[in-house]
Amino acid sequence: MTRELPDIFACCDCAAPLDALDICRECERRFDRADACPVLFPTRSRDVSFTIAPGMLRPDDIAADSVFRYPARSGQDKSDAYHLDLAHQDILENLPAGSVVLEIGCGGGQMRAWLRGRGLVYVGTDVSTERVHDWLTAFGGPDILCDAHALPVRDASVDVVYAAAVWEHLAFPQMAAREVARVLRTGGYFLGSASFLEPWHDESYYHMTPNGTHSTLRLAGLETVHVWPEVKWPGFVAMLEMGNKATRPVRWLGRLMNVYYLLPKQMKIFLKTRTWPDKNGLFETRSRMAGAIAWIARKPLAPQAPEGEAN
Ligand SMILES: [Zn+2]
Repeated sequence: MTRELPDIFACCDCAAPLDALDICRECERRFDRADACPVLFPTRSRDVSFTIAPGMLRPDDIAADSVFRYPARSGQDKSDAYHLDLAHQDILENLPAGSVVLEIGCGGGQMRAWLRGRGLVYVGTDVSTERVHDWLTAFGGPDILCDAHALPVRDASVDVVYAAAVWEHLAFPQMAAREVARVLRTGGYFLGSASFLEPWHDESYYHMTPNGTHSTLRLAGLETVHVWPEVKWPGFVAMLEMGNKATRPVRWLGRLMNVYYLLPKQMKIFLKTRTWPDKNGLFETRSRMAGAIAWIARKPLAPQAPEGEAN
């Protein structure tokens, strides 16, 4: 079975545009298939370079009050597509028909029907079909097997890259973000999320703080539009529950520990300023940001001049 796919693919070894997914006419590399799914992993080493402006290395670079940049609405609506955040949904639903959405880490391809139902062109990629939860295999699986660090996709050919709960599973997250920036069209969106404050998460590599999210996107040349705590799970509850059975007493124990963590600090602020920290404020959120940090980033209209290099 071969699916109808858009004409966006490139050789993962020589970067020549591919007109078929079985052979590269430029370097004559042949591509295997796994259950009819083209397998496009590189066989050559590659050099990757980053430009780091002096200002990007300062720890105080991101103003404390802009660490979280909340979208109009967010959070997972369990009734709709699996794992889809409302803020991401708002972007996807407003795309012009025919826009190309490339999903990285698509698992079973559970977003395919939802996106196609909205007139969008969907390409689901994953590194393997074996890591997919059994209950997601019914969605048809990935269209392409490839590596997020070496996307077999042409420069500036995709309108949106979508990657929910994927970036913690990448060995080199900044390199993969750079790949996203490469394949996005100008003004295109990168919608993603990564695990944070979860004690052990399916052989993950790097869990992302909000600051780490900002700097990863920035290093890739992307513009951060929104960053927010997606699940707002109290850290202590996450540590107690994850990997264990989520029972009510355990949840309450975690909440109690969270109150102990938060309340003395809140009291101190209250006594000093006579104001209670705002619900969505940084302070309150810091005690409830386990689960995932989510983001919306954009490929800027013109290449951004790194700070410190302006004339
Ligand atoms: Zn090639």
